[in-house]
Amino acid sequence: RTVYLNGTYLPETEARVSIFDRGFLMADGVYEVTSVLGGRLIDFSGHLIRLQRSLDELGISNPLTSDEWLAAHRELVAVNKITDGMVYLQVTRGNPGDRDFAWGEGVAPTVVLFTQDKPGLADNPQALTGLRVISIPDIRWGRRDIKTVQLLYPSMAKMMAKKAGVDDAWFVEDGNVTEGTSNNVYIVKGNKIITRPLSNDILHGITRAAVLRFAKEAQFEIEERLFTVEEAKAADEAFTTSASAFVMPVVEIDGAAIGTGKPGRVAPRLREIYLDEMRKAAI
Ligand code: PMP
Repeated sequence: RTVYLNGTYLPETEARVSIFDRGFLMADGVYEVTSVLGGRLIDFSGHLIRLQRSLDELGISNPLTSDEWLAAHRELVAVNKITDGMVYLQVTRGNPGDRDFAWGEGVAPTVVLFTQDKPGLADNPQALTGLRVISIPDIRWGRRDIKTVQLLYPSMAKMMAKKAGVDDAWFVEDGNVTEGTSNNVYIVKGNKIITRPLSNDILHGITRAAVLRFAKEAQFEIEERLFTVEEAKAADEAFTTSASAFVMPVVEIDGAAIGTGKPGRVAPRLREIYLDEMRKAAI
C-alpha cells in the first residue's frame, strides 16, 4: 500500500519516522479517521474542523491547508483503490532532537496518512444483532475532547471487553457514563434520546453532531444530560455513534438486556438516515 509521509507518497515499507519524534516518545500528537464509502469521503469537513481544534489546543501548527488535506486523502483512496474503508491521518509535534518534556518552537510536525480497506463497511452484521458492552471506570485524562494518539487505556478497555466475551466497554466517571472506548453513547426512552453534553470529558464526535441533527429533523426529542449505567439498563434502547462504525445498537450492558435485548426502533432508523444522508453529501 501507498502511504503519505511529510509531503511524499511512498510504499508503506519505506516510510520512516525518527525514534525521537514526540508522537512516539510522548504520545504528543493528534489524529482523525475518515470513513470511505463508495470511494468517497464521509463528513470530511467535520474531521478537518476537529483536527484544527485539536491542534490549536496543543499549540501545534496545522501543516497542511484544507485543500492539501483533501488532495492527500483523495490520492490515497485512488492509488490504494479503496471503495469501502478508511483514511487515517496523524499529526505529531515532530522531532525536536533531544528528549525533553518541554517543547520548543520551530519543529516541523510529522504528518502521516494511510488507508485501510474495509469491504462492506456499512453492512456490518453486528448492526442487526447489536453490541454487548461492559461498564468500567473511566481513568483517562481530563482533556478527552482533544483527539490525541494517547490510546492506551481505550486499548486496555477493548481487551477487558474481549476477555469478558463482549464487544465493547462504556466508561463511567462519578457514577455517570462518559463514552465508549471509541464512540459516543446514547440511551432512548420513548421518543427521547438522551446523551451526555459536550465538555472536556468526552470527544466531540463528528458522528454525534450529525446524528443529533438528523434525529431532531426526524422529530425525536434530544436531552443532553448525564446518565448512569442503571438508567441505561432500564432504557428502551441504547446505541453508539462513531465515524468508523456509524450508528450501532447496544443490546446488553453488564449482562443485563436493554429493552427486548434486540435492536429497537430508533437506532436502526438513525443508522439508515445517517448512512443515506452522509453518502449523499460525501466528497
Ligand atoms: N469518543 C471517543 C473516545 C472516540 O475515540 C471516538 C472515535 N473517534 C468517538 C467518541 C466518536 O467520534 P466520531 O464520531 O467523530 O468518530
